[in-house]
Amino acid sequence: MGEREIEVSPAQALARAFEANVRRVVVIGTDAQSSVEALAITELSSDVDIYATVGLHPHDALSDVEEIVALARAGHPRLVGIGECGLDYFYEHSPRAAQRLSFARQINLARELDLALVIHCRDAFDDLFEIFDVQGVPERTVIHCFTGTPEEASQCLERGCDISISGVVTFKNADSLREAARLVPLHRLHVETDSPFLAPVPHRGRQNEPALVSVVGEFLAQLRGEDVEHMRQETSKNSARLFKIPFP
Ligand SMILES: [Zn+2]
Repeated sequence: MGEREIEVSPAQALARAFEANVRRVVVIGTDAQSSVEALAITELSSDVDIYATVGLHPHDALSDVEEIVALARAGHPRLVGIGECGLDYFYEHSPRAAQRLSFARQINLARELDLALVIHCRDAFDDLFEIFDVQGVPERTVIHCFTGTPEEASQCLERGCDISISGVVTFKNADSLREAARLVPLHRLHVETDSPFLAPVPHRGRQNEPALVSVVGEFLAQLRGEDVEHMRQETSKNSARLFKIPFP
């Protein structure tokens, strides 16, 4: 989410991703318009296999979530998830009560349609867990761009959520996140870019793009003392399982 101008077109980003050995991408919706666009991107001709989610970001929780419900229910062969949705009490761009309602609706939607649930949670883990206690956690759920503490990571894992790490883990002041990233079992770990935001070091400040996912993956492998190729294989498998997409 942002006002930032996109400097790289989807077609360019996909071509560059393929060159960087990316074979599958999931394009994320954050409101009705970007969700429609995400689904449209899956129809581009590309060497990369493209999937999409539809969702309403907590920043836009005052928008009509029923538009997302209708879009998801209409179905699309490449629709693999609901989100990103969740809670953002750091920016608090929309009222907390509206965020909670919109999120709860999307948890139920993911369950109704048997889709993966992609959660955005910033400075709101207490409420996240409270909502989980009422709504339950769908079987395939991921906390995207996790930036919580090691303790919060453990609680997410206990409740059945997978954890996805972005380039934030490469930032200088991210010691607590690095500690959290070390404790996630490999079979529950995902690697993402969160493009166009949060380009990893040493690309910080530039527009992020899917081609940079391996920068995050290699950093994580080194941090965890894992073989890079093994990490690549296992985390790709995890994401394919999460989104129920084919994996060779
Ligand atoms: Zn997010």
